[in-house]
Amino acid sequence: MGGTARAAVFLGDGTYEVREFAIPAPPPGGAVLKVEAVGMCGSDVMQFHGQKHVPGEASPVVPGHEIVGRIHAITPESAAAWGLAEGDRVCVDEIVKCGRCKTCLAGAGLCTNLRLYGYTMGADHEGGLWGGYGEYLRLLPNTHLMKAPESLTAAELTVFEPLANALNWVASVRVSPGDRVVVQGPGHQGLLCAAAALACGASQVIVTGTGADELRLKTALALGAHHVIDVEAEDVVARVGELTGGSMASVVMDLTPVPAAFRTALDLTALSGARVALAGLKHFTPVDGVLVDLISLKNMSIQGCAGSTPSSMEQAVRLLADRPEIARTMAGTHVGLDDVEHGIALLERRAAGEDAVHVSLVHED
Ligand SMILES: [Zn+2]
Ligand SMILES: [Zn+2]
Repeated sequence: MGGTARAAVFLGDGTYEVREFAIPAPPPGGAVLKVEAVGMCGSDVMQFHGQKHVPGEASPVVPGHEIVGRIHAITPESAAAWGLAEGDRVCVDEIVKCGRCKTCLAGAGLCTNLRLYGYTMGADHEGGLWGGYGEYLRLLPNTHLMKAPESLTAAELTVFEPLANALNWVASVRVSPGDRVVVQGPGHQGLLCAAAALACGASQVIVTGTGADELRLKTALALGAHHVIDVEAEDVVARVGELTGGSMASVVMDLTPVPAAFRTALDLTALSGARVALAGLKHFTPVDGVLVDLISLKNMSIQGCAGSTPSSMEQAVRLLADRPEIARTMAGTHVGLDDVEHGIALLERRAAGEDAVHVSLVHED
């Protein structure tokens, strides 16, 4: 095999460097992926600044967990186990369970030896190439790989990962035909929640944002959302009342980092039986002034939302194959390995005069 590959390494202090690594041979029972593109995500920014939020997070690390690539080298036993051959394009589920611990054997719960691409295996661990910001990636046995369509570009396909989260979350609050859904926060994860709610047949989808979110609210409409609301320009509760004929929302999904949005979420719900999905992390800031009586009196369900499941991963890749317009609308912009800094600036919304609904890192051929 031989040769070298480049990868961005986050040093955990708000800096990174591009390093060269040896292109690995497939680990026993595994494979090597040639990474085509990786989605850049808000949690990459936390990682960049050394804010650890995943159990067992390593540093320094090659980050990147929204990975699309082609099988570069594979052992015969893995080719048979995965049903894959060299050259096949796959989306990689970042969650690798050990398959041996108590919870794995019980088939439910969180694996106690959980490994996550882009997080838990550092740049000094066995060759270092364990994240999508590298041109090549080692694939461990037990990795859940999904064959990816050729009809989309790799950069477009990287939305499979946030879409898998969105599909998991809309399922957890049982979005179905007839639902009136409000999504607060039009970041790429919020926009994909709107797309997922529409795919589940929600009758009305309303996305809220601020004056700075012009591009994102436009994208919400392009994805098929029925209405968007700028919460700085309009009274959001009154406007949702108007748009729903007084019924208010049967489902509210809070995707914002703003603590007060949770209070608003409670005000946006219907009189009885609404479901509220909490997915926007508030940086561990408490939410002031919540009237929990509203939750009781309105028979509300509050659902915490994090991550995806193997089946929502499968569903996401299938949905992108069936509805490529979702990926094309969400593709946003991309950067190269020498321009990771700019990608991070876009994610932090400090790139002067420029906004993007999604950013991916595309590796050169
Ligand atoms: Zn992510
Ligand atoms: Zn396990």
